[in-house]
Amino acid sequence: MRVRLLGTGASDGWPDPWCTCASCAAAVAQGVLRGQTGALVDDRLLLDLGPELPRAALRQGTSLAGVQAVLVTHAHEDHFAPAALMWRGWQREPAALSFVGPPAVVAVAGPRADPGSVTFHEVRAGDRLGVAGYDVVVLPARHSGPHAGPAVLYDITGPDGARLLYATDTSVLPDEAVALAAGRAYDAVLLELTTVTGGRPGGESHLDLTTWPEQVARLRAAGAVHDGTQVVAIHLGHGNPPPDVLDALLGSWGARAGRDGQVLELGPGRGHRVLVLGGARSGKSAYAESRVDGEVTYVATAPVREGDEEWAARVRAHVARRPATWRTAETADVAGVLRAAPGPVLVDDLGLWLTQVLDAADAWEHPGPAFEAALEELAAAWAQARVPVVLVAPEVGSGVVPATRSGRLFRDLLGTATARLASGADEVVQVVAGIARRLA
Ligand SMILES: [Zn+2]
Ligand SMILES: [Zn+2]
Repeated sequence: MRVRLLGTGASDGWPDPWCTCASCAAAVAQGVLRGQTGALVDDRLLLDLGPELPRAALRQGTSLAGVQAVLVTHAHEDHFAPAALMWRGWQREPAALSFVGPPAVVAVAGPRADPGSVTFHEVRAGDRLGVAGYDVVVLPARHSGPHAGPAVLYDITGPDGARLLYATDTSVLPDEAVALAAGRAYDAVLLELTTVTGGRPGGESHLDLTTWPEQVARLRAAGAVHDGTQVVAIHLGHGNPPPDVLDALLGSWGARAGRDGQVLELGPGRGHRVLVLGGARSGKSAYAESRVDGEVTYVATAPVREGDEEWAARVRAHVARRPATWRTAETADVAGVLRAAPGPVLVDDLGLWLTQVLDAADAWEHPGPAFEAALEELAAAWAQARVPVVLVAPEVGSGVVPATRSGRLFRDLLGTATARLASGADEVVQVVAGIARRLA
């Protein structure tokens, strides 16, 4: 699941364009501008439809063209601008759209929407429904005001199993909301932190720097938040301290402040794992290179061979073949690269990784624990990869039995590692004489 924070500000944004307070001045000075809160999930699901959101999407390089469902939390004007539905209806052929909201929202939305393409779902706390391939549970909010109707929060599970809690606007969470969130182990919780300033009504309708961490603690105690949950503050207003101070404070709570345009990658990930097998000079490296593009991290696992000119020439030939946009990481810490890489990763190859693991632990005699720990770490990072990964593994088990003990050991351990990674791969491809065959 990919969640784009289209806006992370309160109704008046932060900085408030009319305001000269220290918090707004600091936000201007730090260049951190926040518009009305809303989010776009996988380009398909729109969470809230405030007046600034459609334009924010375009300014962030995306659009609402692929949106199949809109989920609105309540009828306040920063969360729902009914005219946007009318403008949507001015396309030549509007695609089908599911519109989800509490009764007060649906009541104002209906007359503005193109009746041919929009299906309405009136929801109340405790409801559960499926829209656009997502499983949605409706939680109650504590948030009031003229015409807002009962406000709701949304618990959303994607087709990939990733789970998000979108919790704006609310004050202290009703017990029923915490009960519905119990055990949900969210991948991300977006929780409002408006911190209403003096002179403005509605302090009882929003969270602040005292009640916000208390709600996170309640969610944690209920099993809704765990160590892997991304906890992100949204709907931020100028009652908060300057952005850098707020960042530090949230950081000390294991959370962070959302930024407009920020993208969160959630859940089991969008990684695609390709394991490429082949013998020496089979064409496996060239094939593997053909399977990645963009800003690739190339992981060269070869140990440095001081004084070996033939080897150096081979390495130079490999480097010359790679596009200039590729970044090379010369390391045996493949797991570390897989966890941190921002884009596609190509690992060449597993045999050299194994050599380095055994060399580093001086474990050619008794490889057991060192090998198992390294393989365990690599297999976990491979399984959890959120980026495309192509991993090359040499086939060394088909020929004659090696004459040396270390040769036999290497062959057996490589076979074990290859089988382990193959079981977690999305594709296993074998290259023979330059010809690639998909095995699984
Ligand atoms: Zn709001
Ligand atoms: Zn509101």
